[in-house]
Amino acid sequence: MRLLTITALALLAASPPARAAVNVMAATEDLADLVRQVGGDRVKVDAIARGYQDPHFVEAKPSFILKLAKADLLVVVGRELEIGWLPPLIQQSRNAKIQAGADGYLDASLSAKILEIPTGQITRAMGDVHPLGNPHYWLDPDNGRRVAKAILDKLSRTAPADAAYFASRYADFDRRVAEAEKRWDATMAPYRGVKIVTYHRSWPNFADRFGLDVVGYVEPRPGIPPSPSHTIDLIAEMKRQNVKILIVEPYFDLKTPNSIGRETGARVLVMSPSVGGEKEITDYIKLFDYDLGLLVAAIKETGAK
Ligand SMILES: [Zn+2]
Repeated sequence: MRLLTITALALLAASPPARAAVNVMAATEDLADLVRQVGGDRVKVDAIARGYQDPHFVEAKPSFILKLAKADLLVVVGRELEIGWLPPLIQQSRNAKIQAGADGYLDASLSAKILEIPTGQITRAMGDVHPLGNPHYWLDPDNGRRVAKAILDKLSRTAPADAAYFASRYADFDRRVAEAEKRWDATMAPYRGVKIVTYHRSWPNFADRFGLDVVGYVEPRPGIPPSPSHTIDLIAEMKRQNVKILIVEPYFDLKTPNSIGRETGARVLVMSPSVGGEKEITDYIKLFDYDLGLLVAAIKETGAK
């Protein structure tokens, strides 16, 4: 007994002084997972928007303010994805560390490859929720890698004593993404050029990366609900181009997609754009495994290619 106590004391004395984990809030579950991949057990991370919610429209609950008040770091998607709900939460948290532009604020879009940056004048008054380019950029694994690198840099500055730990975790994540990319590319190789229609413009980075041809959208503009005239045009275009896959994000009403599916013979495929959107999608790599699995099964069944 006495011996054990002495051993325990010796062990305690030998271990390094305990450091508090970095407390991170992420706007979405995708970003929270990337923080987890790099930060491991040296971070404590939570997300605001759940993966099954439309990230453009999230209910700003008071509980988020309390969590933001305690955060060392806030990671956001950016490109105004969260403009409808996050700024008041940040402001009301009264946490100087995580205000936009402060050291504890990371806009992940600044390190990502952004598509669909408007060249003409686009304002939110026109109802377009993508005025600064497409904010769904995390659906290209190379952007996941870039964002993870930005998270590595930020965490290393926030907790310099753990920088080597974060760097080795980032390297491991990078290696696992590269391995998964080989698998995904092999899966998709026979289906490059398959034509699809999507409800919202969530998938341009995904389509670019995996060789899909997006020929139209159920929404007339991002954030604008379907209109009868637009739907008629879309059905005609889908028939003309023989489009057999219609991808719908899980938070949209299926009424219009189902009627388009009946008119065109296209398969309506509910596909999650985010980690946490389905119970199987527990991390960033599984997001692509899951979605590509659904997509390939639908392509085979419909004979889309
Ligand atoms: Zn969007």
